[in-house]
Amino acid sequence: MFEMNMRLISMLGIITVVVLIGLIIDYFYMVRKPVRLGLGIAVLGIMLGLGLTLSAVLPENHVYGTVFSEGRPTQKVVALTFDDGPYPPYTNQILDILQEYHVPATFFMVGKNVEKHPDLVLRVQQAGHQLGNHTYNHIDLLKANRKLMEREVDYTNKAIADITGQRPHVVRPPHGFRDPMVMETMADRRLKVVEWSVMSRDWTNPGVEAIVSRTINKVQNGSVILLHDGDGIASSASRAQTVEATRQIIRELLAQGYQFVTVDEILANLEETKK
Ligand SMILES: [Zn+2]
Repeated sequence: MFEMNMRLISMLGIITVVVLIGLIIDYFYMVRKPVRLGLGIAVLGIMLGLGLTLSAVLPENHVYGTVFSEGRPTQKVVALTFDDGPYPPYTNQILDILQEYHVPATFFMVGKNVEKHPDLVLRVQQAGHQLGNHTYNHIDLLKANRKLMEREVDYTNKAIADITGQRPHVVRPPHGFRDPMVMETMADRRLKVVEWSVMSRDWTNPGVEAIVSRTINKVQNGSVILLHDGDGIASSASRAQTVEATRQIIRELLAQGYQFVTVDEILANLEETKK
């Protein structure tokens, strides 16, 4: 849909100029009422800018290219995903719970934290969970130039591969933010961009009950659930609420008959049903 390499910021820049021109035309009555062409251009421009921005930040849309936020609604499966780790002791505690209930999950790891806690990375892999790339410094990719973006992704994949022998093939941009250049950079590396369909804003520590109810109320077949075992590169906030909520979410969804799968398994289902 859009020229590759376009950045959200440059598209918004162009639109801002168009809106200003529209307003000037309107101000000076260059096109007389009732047509008001200038104002029309300005309003359209603002709407387009808003649409482009929402497309960059909302997890479930494909305006800038295919992202994966949800599986097929025909199967009663859900995928748990944990971002920003590894981060002790919370990653360990989540792994204990996953082990207790025999539930797989997917961990989108921050490269800097990977290098700090290789033991945790190894434990995640050895327990059979999936590992994904969440950039090296947890940066906003919309503000990064291509070189920095590539470095952030490549360093993280290398850090994970050095420890586990396996290179992740899924990536979640921090905050889910992407634009055409982000999508192209990931496509060049054959990294699938994975977003989510259910979030509870667990990173704000709203209370265990809130995390659980916001999640359970939104879950449906094929949901990809976003949770956080880590806290960006700051690694300072407690994730105790998410740990306890994870236990309750698993219990509740198992009771409702859901099966837990990795992101790869949800994607495989998607691709199979497409054929
Ligand atoms: Zn994150």
